[in-house]
Amino acid sequence: MEFRIREEIKAMKRYVAGKPISEVKRELGLETVVKMASNENPMGASPKVKEMMKRTLEDISLYPDSGSYGLRHELSLRTGRAMEEIIIGGGSDSLIKVISSTFLYPGDEIIMGEHSFSRYEDNAKLMGAKVVKTAMEDLTLHLDLMLEAVSDKTKIIYLCNPNNPTGSSFGKEELEAFLKRVPSSVMVILDEAYREYVTREDYFDALNYLDAYKNLIVLRTFSKAYGMASLRVGYGFADPELIGYFYRVVDPFDVNLFAQEAAVTALQDEEFLHEVVAENTRGKEFFYKELEDLGQSYVVTDANFILWDTQKDDMEIFRRLMQKGYIIRPGGFLGIPGHIRVSISTMDHNIGFMKA
Ligand code: PMP
Repeated sequence: MEFRIREEIKAMKRYVAGKPISEVKRELGLETVVKMASNENPMGASPKVKEMMKRTLEDISLYPDSGSYGLRHELSLRTGRAMEEIIIGGGSDSLIKVISSTFLYPGDEIIMGEHSFSRYEDNAKLMGAKVVKTAMEDLTLHLDLMLEAVSDKTKIIYLCNPNNPTGSSFGKEELEAFLKRVPSSVMVILDEAYREYVTREDYFDALNYLDAYKNLIVLRTFSKAYGMASLRVGYGFADPELIGYFYRVVDPFDVNLFAQEAAVTALQDEEFLHEVVAENTRGKEFFYKELEDLGQSYVVTDANFILWDTQKDDMEIFRRLMQKGYIIRPGGFLGIPGHIRVSISTMDHNIGFMKA
């Protein structure tokens, strides 16, 4: 080929686009197809969000506010953190890219769990950095192993809590022990995409650690429990100086007007969020019981998905479930063959899935 493609890009895993549901239905001749693969919210977004979006239609000819003032203001009121400590991006995906490009030079290292969110790896490689993965034999993150892996090249450690794709989580004591030991020159990215679903009692409010640990960055999103994945809006908290740098990197109009307005409304509808979390907790209990009855060993989850060892060919299970109209994530795609990851859905769909 005539073009010069960067070696870092060539070394990345090939992107395989999934088919849209409409296409799967057409190909398989199915009336309904239930997607339980991407950890989306089966209850959708709050009805108030949808109303707000209709009203917002009037203003689509204007560029959105590049500083997402209204949303940062609302988040500031709700968390007690200053607006200068908050950044909004087009999904937390976008913020992971911003963080990688702010800190990483070629040859630097990042540390992440062996089975954790793939975008940490891809974005690090894009910058020419090396990815050091720590062992997760029991499918949970081991913060002590991450500390042991720190070298003078380490720039970032990614803590995904609850962790995708395993659903496992760590509590307050573990986080505090980690923060005390991690060198202050290493950025700690605490990705809490699924935090709203957490039910363990010893969970923490990560924002309480921002004052003491200037190297801590907390990422959250409206894509999961708030049911707004398609709107692309994620947010982060960090020291104001860092937020200032991140805002130099993020695309100025990354967060569209609908996303900003909808996110403010979503935060205000606390009742809807409670219903979503309660439905997820019911679904989780259902899966635990069913899997125990089947003698399958699963990872205890604090998220809206569950991973388990089927002891069978996961790709075959994936294909056969697809024929029956259920799309799940096979472990082969996640580097954990034999396992499947299933997003917890409404009880109707959970029951239908289990029958299938
Ligand atoms: N972090 C984790 C752990 C995720 O699972 C996801 C979504 N799959 C994201 C970040 C990105 O979410 P979004 O860009 O939709 O905010």
